[in-house]
Amino acid sequence: MNRRRRIYEGKAKVLFEGPEPGTLIQHFKDDATAFNAKKHEIIDGKGVLNNRISEFIFQNLNDIGVPTHFIRRLNMREQLIREVEIIPLEVVVRNVAAGSLAKRLGIEEGTQLPRSIIEFYYKSDKLDDPMVSEEHITAFGWATPQEIDDIMALAIRVNDFLSGLFLGVGIRLVDFKMETGRLWEGEMMRIVLADEISPDSCRLWDIKSNDKMDKDRFRRDLGGLIEAYSEVARRLGILSENESTPMGGPRLVQ
Ligand code: UDP
Repeated sequence: MNRRRRIYEGKAKVLFEGPEPGTLIQHFKDDATAFNAKKHEIIDGKGVLNNRISEFIFQNLNDIGVPTHFIRRLNMREQLIREVEIIPLEVVVRNVAAGSLAKRLGIEEGTQLPRSIIEFYYKSDKLDDPMVSEEHITAFGWATPQEIDDIMALAIRVNDFLSGLFLGVGIRLVDFKMETGRLWEGEMMRIVLADEISPDSCRLWDIKSNDKMDKDRFRRDLGGLIEAYSEVARRLGILSENESTPMGGPRLVQ
């Protein structure tokens, strides 16, 4: 019987009260949504894969001194995290033109950008996450100028780490979305990486074939989402060779 108090339910995750004050449990569901939840499906095993991939990325970031909310993975679908005050921004970092940037500015998908570009979107399902500038963020009090500087510095570190990590396993990090939160430690506050980083929130293209290994497989009805996410996990060394089970759902190394 599950008696835990549910704090928040989002499209792909649920947050429960944690075992100690200042902690939460982040539960990964199998729901896939796109276009602000207008498209919705349950994809068996997606939550398990995202939990493992996000754990791997957040643990590695913690290990190199990039602050995150992640404490440890608890089971197949859940991880223990620190409770933070989420800053209501989706921070998108882009290395290669794709998706909304390619469309909005008429740049061909796949064009390498002259430098990494950071964009901010205001988190609001009702408004479809509109893109906002630093002026909006500071004027409306969503974050201070100092916090924006901290968020951008964090975004650049995460992008550098992820680009190298994925390049090493033959994957191009085209772009990704991250979220940040304020972590209070007594009187001190710092900005930390929050939420998840997984193929749901990144664009990952195979270096050789340019095959998509991310949620665009769902958005664009390409099929093979679980196979692609399993392949990302396998290349990162999370799933062992004989455990990548395309059809039968992932069986995971504990
Ligand atoms: N993204 C996300 N959640 C969102 C919007 C975007 O995780 O609500 C990710 C998306 O997977 C991609 C990057 O942010 O890796 C940039 O997305 P884009 O602005 O191109 O929007 P999209 O094409 O997904 O509408």
